[in-house]
Amino acid sequence: MEKLSNPQKTIEIIKKYNFNFQKKFGQNFLVDAHVLNKIIAGANVTKDDMVLEIGPGIGTMTQYLAEAAREVVAVEIDRNLLPILEETLSDYDNVTVINADILKLDIQKIADEHNGGRPIKVVANLPYYITTPIIMGLFESHVPIDNLTVMVQKEVAKRMEVGPGTKDYGALSLAVQYYAMPYIVANVPCNCFMPRPNVDSAVIRLTRHKEPPVTVKDEKLMFAMIRAAFNQRRKTLVNAISNSAELNIGKEALQEGLNTLGLSLTVRGEALTLEQFAALSDILSEIY
Ligand code: SAM
Repeated sequence: MEKLSNPQKTIEIIKKYNFNFQKKFGQNFLVDAHVLNKIIAGANVTKDDMVLEIGPGIGTMTQYLAEAAREVVAVEIDRNLLPILEETLSDYDNVTVINADILKLDIQKIADEHNGGRPIKVVANLPYYITTPIIMGLFESHVPIDNLTVMVQKEVAKRMEVGPGTKDYGALSLAVQYYAMPYIVANVPCNCFMPRPNVDSAVIRLTRHKEPPVTVKDEKLMFAMIRAAFNQRRKTLVNAISNSAELNIGKEALQEGLNTLGLSLTVRGEALTLEQFAALSDILSEIY
């Protein structure tokens, strides 16, 4: 069947099935072939790959993924989309659609059953409020992942990608970069979707590190320090961390740690690299 990636074909299918867009499911469908080609190329999908697509919608991106990958498993929460997906994906025998909430699904089991436990690729265009928890949940779990290519708000993509000393640098940058190497694949203006969302988006590829770029004795402590540092980002690191209710680290210990690392006692968290947070956390874990 003809590809869905244009406004006319999308309207035709939506009308045929009398489909109502649901805001709570973040249903904004891509209608731009150029962007779809960029996403597929950016996700580095090959015929060896099993791709987990989260939120296929009417199957627009699924059609592209099915042509590029060995196999696609597409997880869609809205059961009203199932008859549509049946039609739009009828030409492809390598796609399995699962009607489920991705937040409640055992993704490890999917990787085992469809890819023999080897690393999978994940492509997702989801409601923005669940995208970050899903990304972090996947990284923190032991699900084997090669890369994740996700649509996020443009600002969020920037926050994931940047390093120290910029206004967008924060806890999300450090959390993402601890697990993965970010790369912005495409900027996606709101007119590439139907209906149009209120914000511009970007597609970011997060390639999972084989080994974390830093070794740290107590990962939980490091991330608690990072959260504290950016919760009060205008404060000095010493004040932000010593004020934190989540931690019990005194000013003197922090000052000693900064001295050992040759950092200024008035430095702010936004100036520290991941390596420096790891080193400071290692020093403090001795006394914490
Ligand atoms: N991939 C399609 C595209 O690019 O045109 C649709 C993207 S649309 C932004 C998001 C899709 O995710 C919708 O089809 C929505 O129903 C689905 N979705 C929302 N929450 C979900 C969840 N928790 N689990 C699975 N799918 C979900």
